[in-house]
Amino acid sequence: MNHVIVKNLKKVFSTKGCSVVNAVNGVDLEIPHGQFLSIMGPSGSGKTTLLHLMAGLSKPTEGEVIIDGTSLESLNDRQLTLFRRRNIGIIFQSFNLIPTLTAEENVMLPVLAGYHDVEKAKLHEAVDKLLERLQLTERRGHYPDTLSGGEQQRVAIARALLLDFATEQQGGLLLADEPTGNLDSANGETLCRLLKDLCRESGQTMVVVTHEPSVAKWSDRVVTLMDGKIVRDCTPNEL
Ligand code: ADP
Ligand code: MG
Repeated sequence: MNHVIVKNLKKVFSTKGCSVVNAVNGVDLEIPHGQFLSIMGPSGSGKTTLLHLMAGLSKPTEGEVIIDGTSLESLNDRQLTLFRRRNIGIIFQSFNLIPTLTAEENVMLPVLAGYHDVEKAKLHEAVDKLLERLQLTERRGHYPDTLSGGEQQRVAIARALLLDFATEQQGGLLLADEPTGNLDSANGETLCRLLKDLCRESGQTMVVVTHEPSVAKWSDRVVTLMDGKIVRDCTPNEL
């Protein structure tokens, strides 16, 4: 079974006094479990809008998104929020870290905020494992403003993966919007290697929006958007 199915997805934005924007304009996409997919395309081609629709963060004008057999359209707002918390890890370009919490507390935030019921021992085990895996153990007590861009990004990734690790779920869905956008090339490369390893080791399905070919080359598949439509679907070698 495919992990994610996108069917004839459309998103129209109409702003007061201005013309209508067909940000996503009829996208069909099937993403198998464990695939590392890159979404490329010029600025304004609809990449972020598509990712937000896949995360259920905004509602499509037409079409549907199905994740693990559940159509996001069939859920009410409350069910959608719960579904997203349980099934989708999201990494935004701006890391969205809380400045008054340490690296470790930021990672634990989804649990601290009461979103998930996780045994204390399991939580601490998962946090230790993630910090270790993301080479943040020595930075666990640091506040975001004393972390480098790469370290902040890794904290955001650890947070997105926390539930999978704490519940020993395998093969979650991770959506990332230009995760290397604020990193230098060495840190960007380290991050890509890490995402690739996570895909391979724990069967994560990964959808990464990027405009950098050096990021896309790590993926299994590259989909290119133009004016809200898929214009190319190939392997990185074919780019
Ligand atoms: P990308 O991430 O590929 O740069 P976006 O998905 O952010 O592109 O945007 C696609 C198009 O939709 C752009 O023309 C953008 O201006 C427009 N757009 C995005 N969000 C909104 C919004 N909330 N209201 C109106 N137009 C929007
Ligand atoms: Mg964008």
